[in-house]
Amino acid sequence: MEKRMKKKEIEQISKRLISKPKLVWDAIDKKEKAMVFDFDKEYKNFLSTAKTEREAVTVISEIARKNGFSEKPPGKHPIKLMRTFQEKSIALSISGKKPMTEGINLIVSHLDSPRLDLKQNPLYEEVDLAFMKTHYYGGIKKFQWLTRPLAIHGRIIRSDGSSLDIIVGEDHADPVFTVADLLPHLAGKVQTDKKVSEAFVGEKLNLMVGALPIGDKDTKERFKLAILNLLNEKYGLIEEDFISAELEVVPAGPARDIGWDRGLTGAYAHDDRSCAFSSLKALLDVRNLQKTALILFVDKEEIGSDGATGAKSRFLESVLADFMVAHGQEPLYHEIHRVLMNSRALSGDVNGALDPDYQDVHEKRNASRLGYGVCLTKFTGSGGKYGANDANAEYVGWLRALFNKKKVVWQTGELGKVDEGGGGTVAKFLALYGMEVIDCGPPVLSMHSPFEIAHKGDIYMTYKGYRAFLES
Ligand SMILES: [Zn+2]
Repeated sequence: MEKRMKKKEIEQISKRLISKPKLVWDAIDKKEKAMVFDFDKEYKNFLSTAKTEREAVTVISEIARKNGFSEKPPGKHPIKLMRTFQEKSIALSISGKKPMTEGINLIVSHLDSPRLDLKQNPLYEEVDLAFMKTHYYGGIKKFQWLTRPLAIHGRIIRSDGSSLDIIVGEDHADPVFTVADLLPHLAGKVQTDKKVSEAFVGEKLNLMVGALPIGDKDTKERFKLAILNLLNEKYGLIEEDFISAELEVVPAGPARDIGWDRGLTGAYAHDDRSCAFSSLKALLDVRNLQKTALILFVDKEEIGSDGATGAKSRFLESVLADFMVAHGQEPLYHEIHRVLMNSRALSGDVNGALDPDYQDVHEKRNASRLGYGVCLTKFTGSGGKYGANDANAEYVGWLRALFNKKKVVWQTGELGKVDEGGGGTVAKFLALYGMEVIDCGPPVLSMHSPFEIAHKGDIYMTYKGYRAFLES
C-alpha cells in the first residue's frame, strides 16, 4: 500500500513544483527598498521634464553627454557612441569585449505618447471665446481629456526659418488650457444615452485658449485676433506659422506620488517613459560588458511605428553602420545583418496591469499585476495572436534563467482575455531582422490616460532586469 505523505512533505513538493509570482516588497531587503524609492525620485523628475518625444531626446542626450557619450567618440575602449535623428529618436551604445558580429544586446523603447496635437490651422473663435482645433494622437479615451488643465509643448518654424520652442502650462505662473465638457443636466440625448465611442467626438476636442477681445464690436474676429496679436507680441508669430508647427497638448503638471504610503507613481506617459528611463539608467550603470549594448529610443509607436523616426524606419541599420565604423569595422550590408540576426532584444514597453475594478477583461492566471515586478510578454497581437511577435521558447528560457540568477523580480503577462482586444509594440519590427525579441516592461494601470499609474517596485525591477540583460 502506498505510504501516506506527511503534511510537511506535501508542502515541500508544492514549494518545489508550483510557480508562484513574487511581490517585489516580499522579495527585497530594506536596502534595496530604499533604492526603489531613490530610483523613483529620478524617474519622476524625468517624467516631469520630458513630456514630448523631442523633449525626451533633449534630456536623454544631455544625460548621455554628461556621461561621456558623443557622436565622434575617441577610439579607445569602451566606445560610448550617441546618435540622434530628427530630434525625435536617439541611440546610445557602449562597446563590449566581444566582436559585434556575435550579436549585440539591444533595448528599444518609444518616446511618443498619446496626446492631442494642434491642427495646422488651429485658431478660431466661437460665441466670443477663442479656441484651437486639435487632432488626437494615438489610442485615447476621448472623455479623459476633457475638463482638465492641459499644457502646450512644441516647436514652431517661422517663415524666416527660425525656430521657436514653447512650453506653456507647466510653470505655476503659467496659464493652462482646457477642453470643456457639457453639463450633465443637458447631456442626456447627446452623450449619456449614446455609446461611449459615439458620445465623445474627436472634432469637439477643441482647446480653450482665450476670452479677451481686441478693438470694439465692429472688429472682425476680435477674439481670435486678440490671441494672434498676443502671440505676435510675445513670440513674433503670425497665423501662417502654425502650419509649420508641431504643438502637442499634454496634461499639465508634474509626476506625483500616489497613496498615503507613496507606493505608486502617477504621471502622464509611463507608457513608455518608464522603459526609456530604465534602459537609459541601466546603460549608464553597466559594468564589464561582454557584448556591445545598444539602446534605441524611437518615436511614432502609438500610431503604428510608421515614419522616418518610427521603429519601421531604417534608423537602426544606419546606427549600426555608424557603430561598426566607430569600432573599426567596415559596415558591409551583410555584416550589419549578421549582427542584427545574432542579436538579442528587449522591446521595452508597458503591459496593461490587472484592473481591480474590471478584472473580467483579463484572464487572471495570465495577467500582469502591479507590484509583481517587470513583465515579460511573450506575445502581443489580437484575435488569435494576429499581428504578434511571439518570442521563442529558447529565448524566454534563457531570459527567465538570467532574471532568476540576478534576483530580478519578474512576472509574465498577456494583454487581456482571448478575443477581448489586444495591441502591439515595436517587437515585431525588430523581429524582421531575425533577432530574438520579447516585450519586457512594467505593468501600468489607466494606460493611455492622462494620469497613468505605475508601481515603484515594478519600475525599479525594469531597470534591474534591463541592466542584467545588457551585462549578459
Ligand atoms: Zn507603449
